[in-house]
Amino acid sequence: MPASRIARKPFADRAGEPLARERMLHGAEVRDVLAWVRLLVDPQDAAAVVRALARAPIELRQVHLARVIALARRRKLDLVAGCAAALESPQIPPEARERIERFVALHAHAEAALEDNGAEAFMHGLIESLSAPRKPLLAPAQAERRRAGLRRLESLTSEFVRADPHASADQLARHLAAIAIEAAPPAEEPSGTAEAGAGDRLQAMFELLREEVLDSAVRIGGRLSELRLDTELDVAHGVVRYLELIKLAAVLQRDPDYDLRAAIDDLNARLLASTTALEREIFQTSALDDLLIEAQATERDPSAGQAGATPARERRSSGLGPLGLGDAEELSLGPFLPRKGHGLALSASDVVTYRSCPLRYKFARVLRIPTEQTLHQRFGIVVHQVLERYHAAELAGLEDLFALFDAGWRRAGLGERPAELALRERGYDALRRYHARLEREPGTPVWFERSFNFRLGRHHIRGRVDRVDRLGEEDGSGSDAGRAREGSDAAADRFELIDYKTSRAKPPAALCEDIQLSLYALAAREDWGLESVRLAYHYVLDDRKVEVPCGPDGPDAVRETVLEVGDGILAQRFQATPSRETCAMCDYRITCPVAEA
Ligand code: SF4
Repeated sequence: MPASRIARKPFADRAGEPLARERMLHGAEVRDVLAWVRLLVDPQDAAAVVRALARAPIELRQVHLARVIALARRRKLDLVAGCAAALESPQIPPEARERIERFVALHAHAEAALEDNGAEAFMHGLIESLSAPRKPLLAPAQAERRRAGLRRLESLTSEFVRADPHASADQLARHLAAIAIEAAPPAEEPSGTAEAGAGDRLQAMFELLREEVLDSAVRIGGRLSELRLDTELDVAHGVVRYLELIKLAAVLQRDPDYDLRAAIDDLNARLLASTTALEREIFQTSALDDLLIEAQATERDPSAGQAGATPARERRSSGLGPLGLGDAEELSLGPFLPRKGHGLALSASDVVTYRSCPLRYKFARVLRIPTEQTLHQRFGIVVHQVLERYHAAELAGLEDLFALFDAGWRRAGLGERPAELALRERGYDALRRYHARLEREPGTPVWFERSFNFRLGRHHIRGRVDRVDRLGEEDGSGSDAGRAREGSDAAADRFELIDYKTSRAKPPAALCEDIQLSLYALAAREDWGLESVRLAYHYVLDDRKVEVPCGPDGPDAVRETVLEVGDGILAQRFQATPSRETCAMCDYRITCPVAEA
């Protein structure tokens, strides 16, 4: 991708005007346009394609999105080509096909405009075609804020053209795509700043509920032709869901000075007046009101996000669905969960990902949105492979490590651009220090990339440990390097489970809630019969080994955590839990509705 021809400075320097690019790239509408720009520049940008498919004017339901992604993966196509292929698939129902056709047509139109039009005409046309059919349900102030976002995007385009009057639409698109990726929002806090207000939170809730209503309408409609005894109940649930959507729409558009609780009471009275006895009963036991009040409480007092959320959370964990609404039967992603037997196939990183943000888990492991490996990720893989091969081949020289590194570097397709060269130098330095550490450490490395697989409740836990060192016997007699590698009584020995990291070292205090190594300790006991283990992260680039306490609350706490995660996934509880730290590491910010708040 050519370097941007617009310097960062002019935007940052406009006196007194908050026109920083990062700020300009916030807002749902702006990010919708940018997602289209990104996918036009790079059809492999699956996170951008998913956003374009999920948002207006396409609004593909998530179950169909999951099917399209699965189909594209199976056929090794990028997602844009996958959409075209999905039109031929018998697994895609007519309603979804119509939406996908709309996407394919819009994509062809935008692609032609990219080729034929000037930069400004292209941007204007793209914004028009994404906005025209929409009648967004927004409070006037919110609608104006979003229109202003799009105007700023057009003014950014004009500045680009002023800087180079001959700039093509394609050059503009590449420029915007580059800054959209570079300046992806650095993780908004869930508690909300002025930008992440209750209005945005409610809008996100409205969009999720709208999706649920569509899902339930299709499901209930599909069942009407069956001879069933519970049709009346089904229809009542559908009607109530629709009434809730109306309630949420009314809440969004109310006068902001009107107290939320009073507004809800008023709306409930009006809506209940039109219901049957059965609908009334369902309506009155819904958790929506609590969730709305919770969203507002969290907005006003971030700490209320914890305490005030409890009742609704409890309802969610009792199986009331993604918004605390509906029952598990209505959930649609069941076929896409990573099932094994009656439970799930889970790895330590699945558990870590779900705990960091359930929505991120859904994007990565349920929808399985493909992501491009970053340079640093590729580098990390090379380092892991080098260390594994070095030990497995029982090599001993530093030059062997370097030779493996050079071969791995080439195999990974890494080259000689400045960023790559800098990383390669860091790699040599890290390997030098790794080799010196090996010489002085008392343990004897005995297993590398050793896999485990065991049952935990109804779930199957699998994974690999980068390296296992034998430290010696439990009585402290020290290691015996001459001992046959796997021949001695492993149960009587003490071992160290080591996980390599190529990220920056974390202090021990930041690891006290670590689950990954605690799960490895459980695996070592359950699958390998090792009773006594020590746990450590080895930060290879910093040459730091950080010991992690062996599951401070014991294996029962680890078990409980994994079972909770498994239950959450099976119940399809995929609420986003954004935080600055987690979102900064997330590959799905362009897809995520919460990251934009
Ligand atoms: S951007 Fe943040 S909130 Fe959204 S899925 Fe990623 S981690 Fe979760």
